[in-house]
Amino acid sequence: MLRLEAATVRFGARAALDALDLEVAAHEIVCVLGPSGSGKSTLLRAVAGLQRLDAGRVLLDGADQRTVPAHKRGVGLMFQDHQLFPQRDVGGNVAFGPRMHKVARGPRDRRVAELLDLVGLPGAARRAVATLSGGEQQRVALARALAPEPRLLMLDEPLGQLDRSLRERLVVELRQLFGRLGTTVLAVTHDQGEAFALADRVVVMRDGRIAQSGTPLEVWLRPASEFVARFLGFDN
Ligand code: ATP
Ligand code: MG
Repeated sequence: MLRLEAATVRFGARAALDALDLEVAAHEIVCVLGPSGSGKSTLLRAVAGLQRLDAGRVLLDGADQRTVPAHKRGVGLMFQDHQLFPQRDVGGNVAFGPRMHKVARGPRDRRVAELLDLVGLPGAARRAVATLSGGEQQRVALARALAPEPRLLMLDEPLGQLDRSLRERLVVELRQLFGRLGTTVLAVTHDQGEAFALADRVVVMRDGRIAQSGTPLEVWLRPASEFVARFLGFDN
């Protein structure tokens, strides 16, 4: 579904992505882990079309994305700080993508209502964003990212600012939601527990490359290197 071939992004002398190869299958949920600065956000931005590659290719369903602008890629990106539009109400936020794609009002309103049900905020369409808790805003941001029905949903620290108990609950809900919708997901997280609970596959990045890729259990039981073992918190 998604394929990166030797994807390279340089900032000055430093490669944020260093000839990175990655494949994500349709309906797969992949979580990207790695230290700060290892290139996780750059990876998502490159796939979304917000960051130009210096070398290599991004393919979606087999098509090279080099000349495809961000809004035509059919991918959704939810930023860490969710960036809701404060002047729009909840429904206005969720309807943003469908409106951009010129979906008519009736179907658009129905989709907004469906998505708010899905994320556990039924009937919240007319609420002002400022009256929502952090967790509720996170859910609205998720509904907004899902609204254009992206073939690939990318999440950058989607639960980053939430407390542990809310995160644990949302991870379970998200996993069910993605399963129900058949969404392909590429999600960055700092939290191993979150990655291991959400992902079909975990990718550990280091210096713009992939240090290990495997099922959560494989990575946990057989870290491929001392770096991965140390990153996971094993002392030896
Ligand atoms: P974090 O976990 O802190 O979010 P990350 O893995 O998402 O880190 P990136 O944001 O992808 O890391 O950054 C990878 C490297 O590229 C870092 O060294 C960063 O300083 C550098 N970098 C990212 N964006 C830019 C930019 N616009 N200009 C210059 N350097 C950048
Ligand atoms: Mg980042």
